[in-house]
Parts: sequence; C-alpha cells; structure tokens
Amino acid sequence: MFVLEPSMLESASQRKKDVMFSNLMALKAELESLGGYLQIIEGPARKALPDLLNEWGATSLHFNNDHAPVGKSRDDRINETLDLKVVRHWGNLVQPPGAVVSGTGAVHKVFTPYFKKWVTVETPNSQICPSPRFCPQPKGSSSVPQIVELPAFPTGSAGAHERLVTFLNRIEEYEEARDFPSVQGTSLLSTDLHFGTIGPREILALVDQETDSSRAFIRQLAWRDWYAHLMSASPEIVSSPANPMYNKIEWRNNTEEFDLWIQGKTGYPIVDAGMRELKETGFMHNRVRMITGSFLVKHLLIDWRWGEQYFRHTLLDGDTSQNVGNWQWVAGTGFDAAPYFRIFNPIRQSEKFDKEGFYIRKWVPELASLSSKQIHSPWEINEKSPELTSVRLGEDYPLPIIEHSFARARCLETYKRARSEAT
Ligand SMILES: Cc1cc2nc3c(=O)[nH]c(=O)nc-3n(C[C@H](O)[C@H](O)[C@H](O)COP(=O)(O)OP(=O)(O)OC[C@H]3O[C@@H](n4cnc5c(N)ncnc54)[C@H](O)[C@@H]3O)c2cc1C
Repeated sequence: MFVLEPSMLESASQRKKDVMFSNLMALKAELESLGGYLQIIEGPARKALPDLLNEWGATSLHFNNDHAPVGKSRDDRINETLDLKVVRHWGNLVQPPGAVVSGTGAVHKVFTPYFKKWVTVETPNSQICPSPRFCPQPKGSSSVPQIVELPAFPTGSAGAHERLVTFLNRIEEYEEARDFPSVQGTSLLSTDLHFGTIGPREILALVDQETDSSRAFIRQLAWRDWYAHLMSASPEIVSSPANPMYNKIEWRNNTEEFDLWIQGKTGYPIVDAGMRELKETGFMHNRVRMITGSFLVKHLLIDWRWGEQYFRHTLLDGDTSQNVGNWQWVAGTGFDAAPYFRIFNPIRQSEKFDKEGFYIRKWVPELASLSSKQIHSPWEINEKSPELTSVRLGEDYPLPIIEHSFARARCLETYKRARSEAT
C-alpha cells in the first residue's frame, strides 16, 4: 500500500511528482505480475489507515521508517494510534540510526571516525520476501495520479537496476571521473535511493570492493547514512546551524540576487550552468552543487536555508537529511563542515573541473563560441578581442553580479563577526 501524503505532494515540484507516480505505476505492474496489487490511498495516513486496516482484518503493519522530523512524527503518531502490531524497517539506509556510534553511544560528529566504524558494522539482512501473499483487494478505486510529463529516464526498480548495471561497468573510473560535470562519471542513483526503487544494501552487496575506486563509491553511501543518522539524533539541525558558533550570521538575503541565482543569471558561467541544469532537469552534478551553494551562501550572503529549500523542492533526489547536511557543510555551519574561511573561487573551480568548458557550453549556450581559456570568466576578455563579437556582455549574457575578491573579504568579515559574537 502507498499513502499519498498531502504534505509530501504539496512540497514537491511537478517533475518530482511525475517521477514518484511513474515509480508507482512500475511498482503496481510488478505486484500485479506476482498476482497481487498496489493499494494507493489518499492521506493523511493517520486518518486513512485505520479503516482500511480494519477492512483487511490486519493484525500487523510494516513500513519503512522516515528519519526526517516531519515524517518521523507522522510515523510515531501512527504507531501510537493504531491498535495492532507495528513493525518499522530501515530498508532505505545501510545501517539504521543508532547502529554506528562512538564510545559514548552518540553519533560521531566527524565523518572519518564514523566511516571507520561504519565499515566494521555488519550489514543487516534485507532479503526480499520470496513468496508474498496478498490480502483481498478492498472495493473502490486505487489508481496512480495523473502523470503530467513522463520522466526522461526509465523509472521503477527496473530503471534503477539498469542504471546500477551500467554504472558497475565503469565503476573503476569513478574515483577519477566523479568530480567532472561534463563526464558521466557518477552512478545517478540518488533519485532511486530517495524513492526506494533500489535499496542501499542491495547496491552494497553488488559492488565488489576490491579497488580504491569502488571503495570511494561505497564511502558515499556512508556519507548518506551519516547525514541520516545525524538528523535522526539531532532533528533541530533541519533549520538551525549544527555549530552554534554560526547562530548569528548577518545574512543579506537580497531577493533580487536570490532570483538571479535561481535563474542562472549571476554572470559566473559555472554557477549559471549548474542552476540552469537544475531548473531544466531536476538534477545537478555534486561538484556544481558545492560551487553554486557556496556562491549563494558565501558570495551573496544569502541564508543557506533559502538555498536548501529551493534545492529540496527542485531536485528529484531532494531529501531533507541529505540536502540539509550538504547545505550546512557548504555553509560551514554543519558537523565536520568546510571551514568558514574556505570560500570556493568559482573561476578556479570552473577552470579545474570544466577545463574545456563542455559543461558550460551545454547549459549556457550564449557562451558556446568562447574559447576554453575565456569561457570561465568572460568579463576578463579584452574589449578588442574578436571573441567579443559573438557575445555581447551585459546583453546576451550578464556581467558578474558581484566581484569575487570583494565578496570573499565581505564573507570572511561577516563570519568572523558571527564567531566573535558567539564567544
Ligand atoms: C548543496 C548540496 C545539496 C545536496 N542535496 C542532496 C539531496 O537533496 N539528496 C541527495 O541524495 N544528495 C544530495 N547531495 C549530495 C550529492 O550531490 C548527490 O547525492 C549526488 O550528486 C547524486 O549523484 P549520484 O547518484 O550520481 O552520486 P554518486 O557519486 O554516484 O554517489 C552514490 C550515492 O552516494 C550518495 N552520495 C553521494 N554524494 C553524497 C553526499 N555529498 N552526501 C550524501 N550522500 C551522497 C548518494 O545517495 C548517491 O546516489 C547534495 C550535495 C550538495 C553539495
């Protein structure tokens, strides 16, 4: 059974809902091929579940846990109100919260010791039930909501497995390629992991961890568990800095600049490429998420919570614990986060990770004719250069909305002030 929770539907973009509905169609077909069915009900669960469970004469209810605050309190309430056995599972993480802890019994606040422990803990068994039995289907309709636009990639567990198999064939290149947005170097499994069309334990079981590259990939699954465990233990980090040193950052929160960032019109090609990729596809490469996030928080001094909310709404893999954990990392406010004085230089990042400018050319076509040398900072092109005949800066493509060294100094000053006020 799948419960369509109104709060979940309200906060998701139409593209994300289309992926969810398409996954439900696939799950429905899969269950029907086994002689069963998928019951889809309109939430909220606490209202819709009791009648249905009664009709079925159910004696127990099993579901997958949610570790983010809203989902967790919803699940806790269900647990409390239902008068039957409730069994909660952790199939969406490798390790359940509480399984990887330090000597004091708490979640490690630094990733490396967490990871060292994580690799030593035995993975819980998550075998799929070999011969499911189905309850009789209740009367009334149970259909998947209308899909507005079919997703651009295969969905359902078949789609997820196809992506995994393709990735396993090139996992040896992962470590080298994973930071370059114009290369297909990563697995593209985050949306599947978010929706549960594949489980992380299944991935772990299929990866042969013999090489540095495959181990580098598995390490990312540990980051995913870590952010989930941190949120489960400290739900307040969903909206408060994990590090109280940064409670009092004086954000500028300029709405016009926020909008230019969203539209991909900041004048920094790598930032604009990333934001346009996100808007057009619902995905953005990890390296570019770090660059665009850092630009918003540190260059524009816009509260990380604004960026977090926009990403969570727009990303197909948008997930509370992962998004909050990563945004706090970028902002320097999180556990084991980037130090406050580490301010990504968007030009150097672009030169390093998109050297030839392939990624920029794809998402910022106005700049496609510029040379690989100039494409990272078009405002530095000499006025007399013939390159400027193909793009009119300030007209076809914006001039930078902020100068890098000025922004850097302003950010350092602001963060230092917040730190000194906290001590
Ligand atoms: C500002 C910002 C926001 C982010 N928001 C999200 C989000 O809402 N949901 C989300 O799933 N990821 C988020 N990430 C992490 C990361 O960018 C994506 O998981 C990754 O880009 C997905 O691509 P992939 O599946 O090809 O990754 P791969 O490199 O193939 O990694 C395999 C899996 O490991 C996990 N993983 C990889 N990197 C990270 C990471 N930095 N933190 C936690 N888990 C990771 C993901 O589940 C991913 O699918 C965010 C990163 C940043 C910097």
